[in-house]
Amino acid sequence: MRERGAALASAARQLSTLEALAVPGFKPGLAPTAIEIFQVNVGKLCNMTCRHCHVDAGPDRTDQMMSRETVDLCLAALDRTGAKTVDLTGGAPELNPHFRYLVEQCVARGKHVMDRCNLTVLLTGPCRDLPQWFAERGVEVVCSLPHYRKRNTDLQRGDGTFEKSIEALGRLNAAGYGKGDPRLRLTLVHNPAGAFLAGDQKSMEKEWKEGLKANHGVSFDALIALNNMPISRFLEWLEASGNLQSYMELLVNAYNPATVAGLMCRNTLSIGWDGRVYDCDFNQMLDLEARYPGGQAVHVRDLDPARLQQRSIVTARHCYGCTAGAGSSCGGSIA
Ligand code: SF4
Ligand code: SF4
Repeated sequence: MRERGAALASAARQLSTLEALAVPGFKPGLAPTAIEIFQVNVGKLCNMTCRHCHVDAGPDRTDQMMSRETVDLCLAALDRTGAKTVDLTGGAPELNPHFRYLVEQCVARGKHVMDRCNLTVLLTGPCRDLPQWFAERGVEVVCSLPHYRKRNTDLQRGDGTFEKSIEALGRLNAAGYGKGDPRLRLTLVHNPAGAFLAGDQKSMEKEWKEGLKANHGVSFDALIALNNMPISRFLEWLEASGNLQSYMELLVNAYNPATVAGLMCRNTLSIGWDGRVYDCDFNQMLDLEARYPGGQAVHVRDLDPARLQQRSIVTARHCYGCTAGAGSSCGGSIA
């Protein structure tokens, strides 16, 4: 989007587009709980350019990469929190040159590390050894795969993606992932291919496990089903296809108050490539920074967990994407 000079590449334009729609504002006030998950977005570089990408990532996005200095600031901040899990995301986080250093440092601190992986990156030159490297360190691998059928996956991610993803899953299986070992957990993440809500996570997990095993001989441990967020490339597609108003109405009408307690913004902090701090990765993409009481924006350099606990989480209409139906959090459906 940025490369094409698209109007919606601007976060402010995305927010104003959502604000202009004839739907109610997002009202629930969200208060944080203790920080349990420390999420680090190491930059927008990715080997792919998926249609639904909420990050506007791609192979050209070398302009926003977390530096070693900021990685060290993240580690120092992590030590000030009680977070037990470090969630690494991007882009394709594995392509950041400091990725392995960051993983090693988190593992050395006894943290549970999750890598949000697009699968195909595991077939690229510098990453081919990662399945075994991850296994030796007990890193949880959370992989995006739009669907267990080739057509649906390639539609969203481009031709050839499905076959590469299956090959990568086979490599993870060969390293011990996806076979029920809690230390080598392999989770798949599904999101719908159009302007509709994610299906029932439990029944989909069963169907996917059977389909992938029978047709491709690969296995995984759990499936997470997420709604598509009405931001970035998906917002652009919704607008261009004439689905924006109806999709937002779908989200608003499916608002489920039971999801609020489990929203990821309540127990997670999300750190951007430049060290700015957000309530979640979606707010990060919309430039909605987390703020201390009093309004001061937060940088990882001076992250103060006790003060952050007093903040109000920043919300806007995109938040309906997390509260619709069974809800969408980084751990999948909530209610
Ligand atoms: S693999 Fe993920 S980060 Fe990369 S372009 Fe696709 S959705 Fe975006
Ligand atoms: S987008 Fe979702 S996770 Fe982020 S602040 Fe809104 S409700 Fe919370």
